[in-house]
Amino acid sequence: MFVLEKTYDFDELVRQNVHTHTVFSKCAKPEMIFEDMVKTAERVGLATLAITDHSDLDDGIDTPANFLILKERLARIDTSVRVLIGAELSAYGVGKYAEPYEVDRALDFASYSHIHYHLMSWEHPEDRSPRGYAAHELEILNALFDTDRADNIAHPFSPCKMPFFNEEEKAATLAAITENELGDILEKGERARCSWEIHTPTFLRFPEFSRRFWNVGREVGVHFTLGTDAHTLAAIDPRPYAPRLREIVG
Ligand SMILES: [Zn+2]
Ligand SMILES: [Zn+2]
Repeated sequence: MFVLEKTYDFDELVRQNVHTHTVFSKCAKPEMIFEDMVKTAERVGLATLAITDHSDLDDGIDTPANFLILKERLARIDTSVRVLIGAELSAYGVGKYAEPYEVDRALDFASYSHIHYHLMSWEHPEDRSPRGYAAHELEILNALFDTDRADNIAHPFSPCKMPFFNEEEKAATLAAITENELGDILEKGERARCSWEIHTPTFLRFPEFSRRFWNVGREVGVHFTLGTDAHTLAAIDPRPYAPRLREIVG
């Protein structure tokens, strides 16, 4: 389900952050206390803040319990920010999901990762070449869009979580996705009412692919969201990225 409105205006996009981690995620800094995150979001003028703690088979996080805890804490906060309590869910293989359907659908924002290949639980393709991984990612997304689980795709196609590849091979996983494949999967996602995250760390690191992703996405008419993958309070504010993001898309 589309949670946010369609826009291709970076001034609008940097007023949202749909990828942030609280201390419930082991990787987040101790300062990532929910109430302080909301306060920070309000201070920097965000319209929307989504909480997306990890939810996978490796981390032992209780996603339904944390959802209820954060909902209760949110009810006690007075804020102008639209706060979505979601999760960074795991499509850890083709048709494989870490959470039951009911848990997914109870969240305010179901953002899916399809590329956490650094985790023990993640399925790998038989063909371990960059093209093999690209094809596997597309297969996972295809299966995911046959369901109505996903509201958003977190860091789409990002090769950052492939520690077994060097920088060149990581870029090759992106180059291996053809224009047609990209158009088809973006279109299928849009039909499944799922938005695509502009993940600032990936967008800045792989500008060539980011430009393709943006251009094809606009052509197809997809819903884009913006997320910084914030693990610190400072990273909650996406506005400093706006000039560079604009430069990348041209
Ligand atoms: Zn992730
Ligand atoms: Zn994340």
